[in-house]
Parts: sequence; structure tokens; C-alpha cells
Amino acid sequence: MSTRDRALLDEVETLLAMEAHRDHPLHSALSRLYHRHLEQRDRLERLVNIADGFQQSAQQDLHQTRHQLDRQLRRQRKLSRIADRYQDLLHERNQALEDASSRDPLTGLANRRRINRQLKRTIAESERRGRPFSLAMVDIDHFKRINDRYGHAAGDRALIVLAQALESALRVDDFCGRWGGEEFLVVLPNTDLVQAESMVTRLCDRLRDLDLGLAPDGPRVTASGFITEHRPREDYRDTIRRADRALLSAKRDGRDRLYQAE
Ligand code: GH3
Ligand code: MG
Ligand code: MG
Repeated sequence: MSTRDRALLDEVETLLAMEAHRDHPLHSALSRLYHRHLEQRDRLERLVNIADGFQQSAQQDLHQTRHQLDRQLRRQRKLSRIADRYQDLLHERNQALEDASSRDPLTGLANRRRINRQLKRTIAESERRGRPFSLAMVDIDHFKRINDRYGHAAGDRALIVLAQALESALRVDDFCGRWGGEEFLVVLPNTDLVQAESMVTRLCDRLRDLDLGLAPDGPRVTASGFITEHRPREDYRDTIRRADRALLSAKRDGRDRLYQAE
């Protein structure tokens, strides 16, 4: 209530209380009006108090809700950061697992699983672009003798040296994997039979010159191989079967030779 209202009320109260005004014709009506006004003022104050209380509790609720929302938001962000990290980790583990399951553990070369996958991709790419591609099977001659003479562990080391030599001799798009024990499959995309022959001949020459590190002036190996250009629409498993048969002929005919087929 303003000071002016307060003063007016005080003035009316004083006037009503004065003895001289008691018989005034307006005294009774004014007195009732005055008290009625006081009642209404009290009611209004109570209402204002209730409204203030409501507003305060609504503000507190709002503040609390905002605080809870902030906390939830922070928690959610933290959770999503953790989920992101887990996903990255899972992705890395999957990659590592995928890599491990598609590599030969001894030489680190692609294993059959990966070779098959790569072959399918190479065939699709070669058919799409109408480009030739060749593949070669290379088998080390008399490898059993290495094991027999120097032991299996030394044979393992020799296989690693041979695999590294093969892989480092290839061009960027070429691909080489360990098909079996001492048998390697080489995939040469965008390469016809003529180019493949010179490429694989160089490869076998390189293997022949290789020091396997088994003994001073230690043994050298030779390799027999088969190269072929992939025939359009031929199943690559049939191509490999052809290679296997041709390899047997190369072995029978004295080893250290490269056979080829159109
Ligand atoms: P060929 O000229 O007819 O190919 O004779 P080879 O002795 O190379 O072939 P054969 O198939 O008779 O024997 C393969 C040998 O390769 C025998 C096997 O113990 C050896 N070998 C296969 N895998 C491994 C391996 O992971 N480590 C070692 N140390 N030797 C292996
Ligand atoms: Mg062999
Ligand atoms: Mg063999």
C-alpha cells in the first residue's frame, strides 16, 4: 500500500473516531465502507501473497528442471562420447581381426580366404573395364629337402624370405598370396599373357638367386610355375585347377620351368 493510501486511511479512521462526528448522518455508512475496504484490502494482500508463493515455487521448479535437464544433457554427451570411443575401438578390433583372419601368420602374405576375395574383385574389375588379367601359380621345387636338411624352423625362415622377395618384386596393383605350404599365387591385373610371362620369369629368376640365409653359401631354390590369362567368364576356381594340373606337368618335366596357357 502506498504512503498516500495509508495516510488517507489513517485520516478516515481518525475522523470516524472523533466524538464530534459520531452523530453525523454519513458516519454509520462511512464507517461500514471503511471496514469493508479494510476487509477487501486484507483479502487482496492474502491473494497477492498466494500468487507470490506460486510464482516463487514455479521459479524454483523451473530452476530445478533446468538443472536436471543440464545434468541429463551432460550425462548424455558423456555417454555418447563413450559410445563413440567404443565404436572406434570396435571398428579397429574388427579391422585387426579381419586382417589377422585373412593373412597367413607365417609369411604375412594373404591367405586363401583373402586371395579368393581379391580374385573375385579383380575379375569384376577386369570385366567391367574390358581389361585382361593374368595369374600365376609358383611352387618352390624340392622344398621338403630344405626341411629335411636344415630343420622345419629353418624351412619357416626360408619361406618368409621367399615370400618377402615375391612381394617386393610386384608392382603396385599386383597381388600375391600363400596358396599352400610352399605354393604362391600371383595375381596380375591389367596384364596380358605376354607381359605376365616376362614378369613371372623375372620373379622366378629372383627366387633362384635368393640367399635363404640357412648356411654360409647355403642352398638356393628353384621354382616351377604356371601362368595363364584369365578367360572371360571362366570361374577363377577352374583357372586355378588348370594351374595345378600344369604345375604337375612342370614338375614331371624336371622342375625349374614356367608353363603357360592361353
Ligand atoms: P616339389 O618340387 O615336387 O614341389 O617338391 P616339394 O618338396 O617342394 O613338394 P612336396 O609337396 O613334396 O612337399 C612340400 C614341402 O613343403 C613339405 C612340407 O613340409 C613343406 N612345407 C609346407 N608348408 C611348410 C611350412 O609352413 N613350413 C615349413 N618349414 N615347411 C613347409
Ligand atoms: Mg614344392
Ligand atoms: Mg607344393
